[in-house]
Amino acid sequence: MGKKKKEFVEEITPMEQDFAKWYTDVIKKTDLVDYSPVKGFMAIKPYGFAIWENLQAYVDKRFKDTGHKNCYFPLLIPESLLKKEAEHVEGFAPEVAWVTHGGDEELAERLAIRPTSETIICEMYSRWLNSYRDLPFLYNQWCNVVRWEKSTRPFLRTSEFLWQEGHTLHETEEEAQEETLQMLNIYKETAEELLAMPVIVGIKSEKEKFAGAHATYTMEALMHDGKALQAGTSHNLAQHFTKAFDISYLSREGKQAYPYHTSWGISTRLIGGIIMVHGDNRGLVLPPGVAPTQVAIVPIATHKEGVLDKASEIFEQLKDLARVELDDRENYSPGWKFNEWEMKGAPLRIEIGPRDIENKQVMVVRRDTLEKTPVPIGELEARIPELLKEINTNLFEKAKKMRDENTFYAKSLEELKEIMDTTQGFVKANWCVDPQCEETIKKETGATMRCIPFEQEDLGGDCPFCGKEGKSVTYFAKAY
Ligand code: AMP
Ligand code: ZN
Repeated sequence: MGKKKKEFVEEITPMEQDFAKWYTDVIKKTDLVDYSPVKGFMAIKPYGFAIWENLQAYVDKRFKDTGHKNCYFPLLIPESLLKKEAEHVEGFAPEVAWVTHGGDEELAERLAIRPTSETIICEMYSRWLNSYRDLPFLYNQWCNVVRWEKSTRPFLRTSEFLWQEGHTLHETEEEAQEETLQMLNIYKETAEELLAMPVIVGIKSEKEKFAGAHATYTMEALMHDGKALQAGTSHNLAQHFTKAFDISYLSREGKQAYPYHTSWGISTRLIGGIIMVHGDNRGLVLPPGVAPTQVAIVPIATHKEGVLDKASEIFEQLKDLARVELDDRENYSPGWKFNEWEMKGAPLRIEIGPRDIENKQVMVVRRDTLEKTPVPIGELEARIPELLKEINTNLFEKAKKMRDENTFYAKSLEELKEIMDTTQGFVKANWCVDPQCEETIKKETGATMRCIPFEQEDLGGDCPFCGKEGKSVTYFAKAY
């Protein structure tokens, strides 16, 4: 209890000085997560979890609106199942955590803690699918997965993370491809409309694709420090798993056939993305779409008659229009509360004191611009939702400007290296798509191919990195 008075706005390291330190300062001081006794495993605190729940609610609705249903599959996967698809197990083997004992007894077969669930789900699907009439399977699960990551960072890369994984089966190749792209598009809209985070969408190279996939599609965002973040992926798995797991069914033609398969996922990583795209040296700047508190009402001089009553009245007036919180904590000064809400990134703050009440107005403060404007109390119901929309648009435009200003062209490997060693950012080039060239780029510059965007521009010319024929305009960056 004696620690209660502890200085609250301990300094957040400026991001220009040390971006990694800025990030950890922000997440610790805003109470989003805490480290746990096991490296790479984090506890998500209520403020952080509320962001996840808001994101989840939006995405879950998008899934259901497109015909998907939720289910749940087991956490443990027998080793023999994990090994059935050769490329898949090769890709995931280094990251798998194993259960070897039940109590004191050694198990006859090791059990993998799911790093992803294609294998266990295909095992179940092989029992559930009989006829073409059963298709499509449009299922999703919300769960945790474990990947033994070498270097971890809260939200962005953790050994256990929360995510959703959709797994669908279709009769035709075309339907599976359509589904893969439909889900990627839902992710893009989630990133851009809900999270105000602009993304580049496109396809991964052979080297960067998901282990076992026919093709991996991705959305890539650019963080404040010039590093890219793979923010969500959608895989066309063709028949790789359905054949390995013998998911056959009786087709329309009365023949045994294998269905076409997709999987797609986004994770708690997106929260790290929001922090790194929108945050500033005062702390979090949360997009209204997922901010746990969109509007914080802070009464001033609460001992004066009528202030708390008026603040409660405004709370009642707004509570169905936005996520509003009345901060009537007694032991904190208004100044403290202003700072805290600013640091925690609430999009709007309403300040209300005796003089405001006399003038039938309140002060509305925007977190994104720090602008302070008086708004007549009678206009709040109309103005607050408008302001939240304006903030969302402004955050998106700001992030897009930042991304565009940090997107470069490289005319040689040296130029790419120069950029990666200094400003970082996205680099575009008319690439040869050769895995050998990709290897060299990574080794020499630290950059990886992020995606070949759907939207191609005509850069022309040979591959600037190896001189072979240029095939596709490709984004490169160092990535989280
Ligand atoms: P994947 O199954 O590898 O395609 O991963 C699906 C999505 O999960 C990726 O696009 C990332 O956004 C996210 N993800 C992958 N690994 C991690 C991790 N270690 N921590 C948090 N999110 C992750
Ligand atoms: Zn090349």
